[in-house]
Amino acid sequence: MPTTRFAPSPTGFLHIGHALSALYTREQAGPGGRMLLRLEDIDQTRCRPEYAAAIEEDLAWLGLDWPRPVRVQSRHFADYAAVLAGLRARGLVYPCFCTRSTTQAEAAGAVAAPHGLGPVYAGTCRHLSASEQADRIAAGIPHALRLDVAKAQAETGPLTWRDLDRGTIAAAPERLGDVVLARKDCPTSYHLSVTWDDALQGVELVTRGEDLIEATHVHRLLQALLGLPVPVWRHHPLLLDAHGKRFAKRDKAPTLRAMREAGKTPAEVRALAGF
Ligand code: GLU
Repeated sequence: MPTTRFAPSPTGFLHIGHALSALYTREQAGPGGRMLLRLEDIDQTRCRPEYAAAIEEDLAWLGLDWPRPVRVQSRHFADYAAVLAGLRARGLVYPCFCTRSTTQAEAAGAVAAPHGLGPVYAGTCRHLSASEQADRIAAGIPHALRLDVAKAQAETGPLTWRDLDRGTIAAAPERLGDVVLARKDCPTSYHLSVTWDDALQGVELVTRGEDLIEATHVHRLLQALLGLPVPVWRHHPLLLDAHGKRFAKRDKAPTLRAMREAGKTPAEVRALAGF
C-alpha cells in the first residue's frame, strides 16, 4: 500500500473540491498505506498561518488523519535553494529579468499561481550573454530563475511517466516552456519544492487534480535531473459546480467551515464530495 500526500496551499479555507482531493488521496493510500499532509506555503504573500491551522482542523473534522510532523515548505527554503544551486552550477538554469508588465506569459503565470501554469514563456532571457546577465544582476534588477528545458532534456534524453488511469506517457515538459524554479519574491517555486518534497517524503503515488497534469511533465524532468525516485501518478477529475465550473477559492466556493456552521455533518460533506 503506497504513501500518498495531500498538499494544499494555505491561501484560504478548504472548500468541497479540496475535500474530494483529500478523501481521494486517503482512499488511494488504502487501509495499509499512509496519507501525508504537506503545507505548500512558499508564497508567503498569500499564505497565512490561520489558514494552515484551519486546514488541519477541517481535515480532522472530515475524519482524516495523517502522520506528524506535517512538512511545512516555508521552513525549508534553504533546502530548495541548495537544490537549485546545484542545477545552476550545471548551467541548467538562467536568470530571467522579464517583468509582469512586459511579458504576457509572466502575467498569465501570476494569475495561475501558485503553480504558474500559464502560457509558455518566450525564452527572451535565455539569449542573454553571461556579461549581460552579470550587468543586470549587479544593477540590482530583480530576477526569477528559469529551467532551460531544452538543455535539461538534452541531458536526460527522452523520459516517460506512468499515470495509473492514462497509462505510460512520454514526458513533454517543453509544453510548459522554461518554467520558473525560483520566483523574484521567493527562493523556490511550486515545481521545484513539490518534486523535491515528494521524493524526500517517500511519496510513491502522487494524486492531484487533473488541472495539474501538465506540471507532471516538468516534475518528471526534474526528477531525472536530480536523480530522484520516480513515483506513479493519478490525476482526479475536478468537482464542478452547478454551472459546470470548477470550485475555486477565488470564486468563493462554499468552504468546509461554512458547511459545518450551517449544520452539515462530516458524513454529509463526504457524500457531497462523492465519498
Ligand atoms: N499545492 C498545490 C495546490 O494547492 C497542490 C500541489 C500538488 O498536489 O502537487 O494546488
